Amino acid sequence: MSVRAIVMDIEGTTSSIDFVHKVLFPYAARELPDFVRSHSSDREVLQLLDEARIEAGEASANTERVIEILAKWIEQDRKAGSLKALQGLVWESGYRDGDFTGHVYPDVAPNMKNWVENGIALYVYSSGSVQAQKLLFAHSAAGDLRPFIRGYFDTRTGHKRDASSYRRIAQSLQLTPSQILFLSDTAAELDAATEAGMQTIQLARDKNVVRGAHTMVADFDAISVASVDTE
Ligand SMILES: [Mg+2]
Repeated sequence: MSVRAIVMDIEGTTSSIDFVHKVLFPYAARELPDFVRSHSSDREVLQLLDEARIEAGEASANTERVIEILAKWIEQDRKAGSLKALQGLVWESGYRDGDFTGHVYPDVAPNMKNWVENGIALYVYSSGSVQAQKLLFAHSAAGDLRPFIRGYFDTRTGHKRDASSYRRIAQSLQLTPSQILFLSDTAAELDAATEAGMQTIQLARDKNVVRGAHTMVADFDAISVASVDTE
């Protein structure tokens, strides 16, 4: 059976883990207070600040208090929806201002282009929000890669180590799981995709990657369309 679609993880697969943890998150933590202060009359920001007040149970918190709460949530790595959305807005302004570009390994864009030209549909599945995924690929070091990507999935579809998430993705693509190749650096995610019936390849961008029972490659250049065309 041929592979009709490729679903790509981001961190450790298309992009370096360090970019997310040493560039994106520290930038958001550093810039969020000033961003909130200078956008406190934007409707979208106002709404997110209200959401944060509700999530924190502090309905009457002033802007500075909400900034404190958000900073604490960042420290605690709390997955609050309002915080995630505000971080997304901060990153968007950072990408727009050219403070950084979305890291993608040099082999990523040429292979994405090649796969699409060979009739394979490309999707992204990452624990980062769909908003953050689109920003990274829109402002990637290799230019705007969104034209090559047909769709995006985040943890709203389910946990990445849960087989049902991969079944849901297959359903949403209207393909059988075996027609889909999932690329990730994390063996546990690949195990879940295998359990759902997807084909898998593990990326070993980092020498310390924990090896699983999956075909392993160093980069996208080692994934040939022929190898994904046949089961
Ligand atoms: Mg990963």
